[in-house]
Amino acid sequence: MSERPVALVTGAGRGIGRGIALELARLGFAIVVNYAGNVEAAEECLALVRERGADGILVQADVSVGEDRERLVHTTLGMYQYIDLLVNNAGVAPKVRADILDADEASFDRLIDINLKGPYFLTQLVAREMIGQVESEPTRERPRIVTVSSVSAYAASPNRGDYCISKAGLGMMTALWAARLAEYGIGVYEVRPGVIATDMTGGVREKYDRLIAEGAWPLRRWGQPSDVGRAVAAIARGDFPFSTGEVFNVDGGFHLRTL
Ligand code: NAP
Repeated sequence: MSERPVALVTGAGRGIGRGIALELARLGFAIVVNYAGNVEAAEECLALVRERGADGILVQADVSVGEDRERLVHTTLGMYQYIDLLVNNAGVAPKVRADILDADEASFDRLIDINLKGPYFLTQLVAREMIGQVESEPTRERPRIVTVSSVSAYAASPNRGDYCISKAGLGMMTALWAARLAEYGIGVYEVRPGVIATDMTGGVREKYDRLIAEGAWPLRRWGQPSDVGRAVAAIARGDFPFSTGEVFNVDGGFHLRTL
């Protein structure tokens, strides 16, 4: 039986997921470090979690695959008995940025499967467990769910329509689960990062360097995984008890309209 809170973070081995895992470790969460294929990065993340005095385990699982999602949840509960926080972070960009006049169905299916269907049905699985947890342990702090979407949820990039659509879907997913789980006191939140320095943006670093210099967002710097991690940690700490379905922009002010 686990006394400390338990966080399941998908895609936690590197990038934003790692940034989230490390901030949650600092808060004393035990961390389930999910990864897809990069075991070295996941092991490194787990070592850093432990350096921060927190417990953790590694679980390989592809969030787009039903049996993997079930094994991920089953393994988590087998180890820690509870899930106090689910962070749907795992996600991919298209392999090639293709104009929507040319982009193919295979890329669309891949992005929807990993970025939208995976978190939607993982949330369903975890929500059922969380409801049971709330009913059997009413004095335990209520669980929470955070989904990492993107400014691409509303900013149209015609060279990666599949990515934008998958992220826009996460906005509705958050609204749906927030509405459905409110009666159990389970808060559901969306965190929308802007441009963050990770492997995902590694191939377009010069483009974003230029955009930053031109002032494409008011806080003229790259976002860091820890910027997103700190926002998730504030939610995880319970600092927004009368908020659910809320969107947290972590984007240097990109979402502002200015004149
Ligand atoms: P990243 O550096 O490419 O890392 C992606 C992570 O997701 C890795 O840990 C990877 O696991 C995992 N992953 C990929 N496919 C998976 C699958 N099918 N099942 C389970 N895990 C999977 O990306 P990132 O920049 O940190 O992005 C993290 C999230 O933030 C994504 O949802 C992304 O869309 C979103 N986001 C990123 C930015 C940005 O500027 N970087 C901006 C807005 C939103 P392995 O390590 O095992 O491959």
